[in-house]
Amino acid sequence: MRRMNAERVVSDLRELAARTSTPDGAQRLAWGPVWRDAREWFGGKVAELGLRVETDSAGNNWVTLPGASPKTVIVGSHLDSVPNGGWLDGTLGVVAGLEALRIYAGATPPVTLRLVDWADEEGARFGRSLLGSAAAAGALKIDDVRELKDRQGTRLVDALAENGVALDRMLDARDELKRIDARAYLELHIEQGPVLESMQKATGVVLGTFGVERHMIRFTGQAAHSGSTPIPMRRDAFLAAAQTALECREIGLRHSKPTPGDAVVCTVGIVNVEPKIVTAVPGVCEISLDQRALSAEVLAAMLRDAKAAAARAAQANNVTVEWRELWRINPRPFDEALVRLCEEAVREETGDAPRLPSGPLHDAAEMVPHMPAVMMFAYSSNGLSHCKEEDTPGPHLETTIRAYLRLVQKTIAHVARQ
Ligand SMILES: [Zn+2]
Repeated sequence: MRRMNAERVVSDLRELAARTSTPDGAQRLAWGPVWRDAREWFGGKVAELGLRVETDSAGNNWVTLPGASPKTVIVGSHLDSVPNGGWLDGTLGVVAGLEALRIYAGATPPVTLRLVDWADEEGARFGRSLLGSAAAAGALKIDDVRELKDRQGTRLVDALAENGVALDRMLDARDELKRIDARAYLELHIEQGPVLESMQKATGVVLGTFGVERHMIRFTGQAAHSGSTPIPMRRDAFLAAAQTALECREIGLRHSKPTPGDAVVCTVGIVNVEPKIVTAVPGVCEISLDQRALSAEVLAAMLRDAKAAAARAAQANNVTVEWRELWRINPRPFDEALVRLCEEAVREETGDAPRLPSGPLHDAAEMVPHMPAVMMFAYSSNGLSHCKEEDTPGPHLETTIRAYLRLVQKTIAHVARQ
C-alpha cells in the first residue's frame, strides 16, 4: 500500500479545472465535448495505474481494482458540471477516488475497489438530475425522459447516442450494478452550503439526504372591488396564503432542533395572485411549499401541520383551499456503521466530527436502497456552488481529502472482516 498524497489530488483537480473551464467557470456539461474531454483526461490518469475505464449501459464510467475478495467498496462522484460551474462539485469525489486507487494499485487489496464516475448527475442540459446513477439504481423511468430536449432542441436520445448510450438499454446498468458484490458506497463532495463554514469546520459527516414534500396550495375566495368591499366582508385569497406562508415558517422552526443534523427547511418560492389588479381583492392565490427533513416522521408531521395551518387560514378568510402534490421523495438516511466510520476518520484528521444532512440530492442517495452508503462534505467558501466562485480553502481541502482516504481505508478493513 502506498502513502496517500492529498497535494497530488489538489494538483490533479487544478489540472482538470484548467483544461475544462473558461473564465466563467467549469464547462463540463454532460454528453458534450468538454465533458468527454474531462473523461479522456481521467482515462489517461487511470491508464498510468495500469487500469482501464469501462462504461456501463447508462454511460457511467467504472474502474476496477480487483482485490483478494469480490466484496466491493465503491468510491466516486461525477465529472459533469453545470454551465459556468465550480471546480470541485463532483470532481472532488472522482479525483479523490482516483487517489484511493493509487494507494492500492500495484498490490492486491483485501477487497475489490471500484471507482465510478456517474454520467449526468447535474441534469443541467436536459433537466433530469442523477440520470446515470438513477439508471443503475433502477429508479429511472425511461418514458419520463424519452422526449427531453435541451435548449438548442437536441433530443436526449440523440445526445446519448452520440456518446454510445442507447436510451432503451440504459436500465441494463441496473443488472450490471447488481452483479457487483457491493458492500459500501463512499462519496466525497463539496457541501454547497454554509453550514460547515458557520461552524468553522473543514469537514463534515453527512447523515443522509433530505426527504422532500413539494406542493402547490390554491386558495379560492372572491375577487371584489377594493374601494367598495368592507374588510370583514371580503374573501381575500392572498391573505389566507400569506398567513399560511408565515405559519409554515413557524412549523419549520418548531420541527428544527438546534443541532445542524436535526434542522429542517421549508420555502414558499412561488406566489400567484389573481386577478392581479391594484384595485381588486385577490380572488385566487396559489403558493408553492417545499418542505425538507431528514426524518420521515418529522417530514410527515410538517406536512400535516401545514395542511392544518392552511385550513385555519382559509376558514379565517372565508376562502377554500386545495392541495396539489408536485413532487416528493423519501429521506435517504445513510448507513449507521458507515456514518460511524466516517466520524472516526473525520475526528482523527480534524479533531472533531460535525454531522449534517444534505439538502441537495446526490448520486449517493440513489445507492442507499442498494448498499450501505455514506458521504463526507468539504467546507464551501461562502456556501457558494454551481458558480465560478465555488471553492474550498487549500488547507481545508487537503484535510478533507485525507479524512476521506482514511474513510476508504477503514471501510476496506471493515468490509474485509464481514
Ligand atoms: Zn455534485
